[in-house]
Amino acid sequence: MKLYNTLTRSKDEFLPNEPGKVKIYTCGPTVYHFAHIGNLRTYIMEDVLVRALEYLGYDVLRVMNITDVGHLSGDSDDGEDKMLSGAKREHKSVMEIAKYYTDAFFRDCEALKLRRPDVVRPATECIPDFIAMIEKLLADGYAYVSGGNVYFDISKLDKYYVFGEHEAENLEVGVREGVGEDVNKRNPADFALWFTKSKFDDQELKWESPWGLGYPGWHIECSAISLKYCGEYLDIHCGGVDNAFPHHTNEIAQSEAYLGHKWCSFWFHVLHLNTASGKMSKSKGEFLTLSLLKEKGYDPMAYRFFCLLSHYRKPLVFSYEALDNAVSAYGKLRARCAALPSGGDCTGETAGALRASFTAALENDLNTSLALTAVYDVLKSGLADADKRALIEEFDRVLALGLTDPLPSEKEPSGEEDGEDAEIRRQIALRAAAKKEKNYAEADRIRNELAARGITLIDTPQGTTYQR
Ligand code: AMP
Ligand code: ZN
Repeated sequence: MKLYNTLTRSKDEFLPNEPGKVKIYTCGPTVYHFAHIGNLRTYIMEDVLVRALEYLGYDVLRVMNITDVGHLSGDSDDGEDKMLSGAKREHKSVMEIAKYYTDAFFRDCEALKLRRPDVVRPATECIPDFIAMIEKLLADGYAYVSGGNVYFDISKLDKYYVFGEHEAENLEVGVREGVGEDVNKRNPADFALWFTKSKFDDQELKWESPWGLGYPGWHIECSAISLKYCGEYLDIHCGGVDNAFPHHTNEIAQSEAYLGHKWCSFWFHVLHLNTASGKMSKSKGEFLTLSLLKEKGYDPMAYRFFCLLSHYRKPLVFSYEALDNAVSAYGKLRARCAALPSGGDCTGETAGALRASFTAALENDLNTSLALTAVYDVLKSGLADADKRALIEEFDRVLALGLTDPLPSEKEPSGEEDGEDAEIRRQIALRAAAKKEKNYAEADRIRNELAARGITLIDTPQGTTYQR
């Protein structure tokens, strides 16, 4: 598989450290607010990456943190902890909002068929690991204590700006416009590992440490949690592109200083979801959530489909018009796939050729839109209908679009439902089955009979609903 690697700025052949096994670390959400659909774009593409690696035969271990302390507003080390500002906004404790937004995040993940990483660790549960790592960095001369805080000394490294494209003068923390220089730092780009002093004295959660009562910096979380669960050699580190600097740059600085050798070979960055007015961002306060899309009647799966239509390395502009187009294409595709009969197999030559083009798309830097084209190619192919379904079900292990799931109207009425609603849903299911068998006379009879009772059927790309 070829993957674009931000570290080398080229598409490289992906080779894990241990044959057949892949260790992936993902920066998790900062749980001071709902995830917006931009954050979710990143997690959707990471989910497809993991599923694609598994489809290609790798055994994947995926680890993710939950940032519930230390992520400060702005890149400077003197901003307020985002968790604290979230708690103030909602008049709740930090742990209350952490729990609330962590649960909300995983509900969104479930609705989008994002598989839960094998290990999920909130930062607040790993404080001793951060302290141990900082102690070693101090002992080895990579860190220093100043003004009550512990800082990483970037001058101790041969190369700090590993992702290259950042102009050091513009990006050095503390010298940007509007950001006051932290006088405790030896070099403007040094960053905090542990705080005991900040101008925000009301930091709610603090822990005992060799440097006094305080709290960790954001970057140390990801280094320590990744090292703990993935070991000394990480295969792929993921995140949104905004994390490349300073967050991932600082993670590399700390981890490699700590280990004394190269840490992670591949850096997988997802480009942003933007609106007409720029990057969607939580801190700007104006953003779209999955719940809002659901309230407006959008199926979360249609948003997943929308994301898969474009390449993860291209910025994606969100508009309702573009989403509506995706809804319609997804609905049509799903209806075609769900109508295919089961019981087929996909072992023949034609299936092999179709599989080869699907695999080639994944292996070419996770080209999801070409992978979707392979699904349409299956539908157009000369395969028997049941074999088409079998092959699409196989591809859907990676795409996870529920392509062959029964349409809502065809689902068996649930046991809890009784009375007239259940009866109508049964009629709708019978009508759908009649249509599938091209028995339009029967389908019309059911529609007319319901209409005579004052029940109007509405056919949508997602299936049939009704109105009294
Ligand atoms: P946060 O919850 O702010 O820590 O961000 C969670 C993830 O979403 C990180 O990997 C970010 O890089 C990513 N992210 C933030 N904004 C966007 C955006 N507009 N589009 C795509 N990914 C984003
Ligand atoms: Zn991180």
